[in-house]
Amino acid sequence: MERTLVIIKPDAVKAKHVGDIISIYENNGLSIENMKMMYANEELLKKHYEEHTDKSFYPSLVKFILSGKIVVMEIMGEDAVDKVREINGVTDSMKAEKGTVRNLYGTDIQQNAVHGSANSDDAKRELDIWSR
Ligand code: GDP
Repeated sequence: MERTLVIIKPDAVKAKHVGDIISIYENNGLSIENMKMMYANEELLKKHYEEHTDKSFYPSLVKFILSGKIVVMEIMGEDAVDKVREINGVTDSMKAEKGTVRNLYGTDIQQNAVHGSANSDDAKRELDIWSR
């Protein structure tokens, strides 16, 4: 059993897709172990997106994530990290495979509905950041 972090981003929360998205994970055999709705802040995002803080899109990404409430979830299941990444689809919503969360509920490369940890090390690191 593996644990991973999922964030439902403000675009999907505003569009009232929280329930739809949670159902997709549950229908794929994953369990929601912990969940909270909250506003992010710059300090949390700096830690969470540490690999992106120097990128040109970082200010825009922060502005987007701070634009509304998010849902932070700890998801558990067999192969949960890779399974969630597959369910979410690729980063750019316009290129995400049919039926993936980003294909269904994302808009573009930034407003892509969800975050899922990239690997098990990131999952542990991110679960720690958001559990405080
Ligand atoms: P992920 O692991 O699929 O979420 O992708 P990344 O770790 O590469 O990027 C983190 C987040 O930054 C993505 O989910 C997008 O919301 C945003 N992002 C990534 N690439 C770009 C980009 O080129 N432009 C903008 N505006 N946002 C981006």
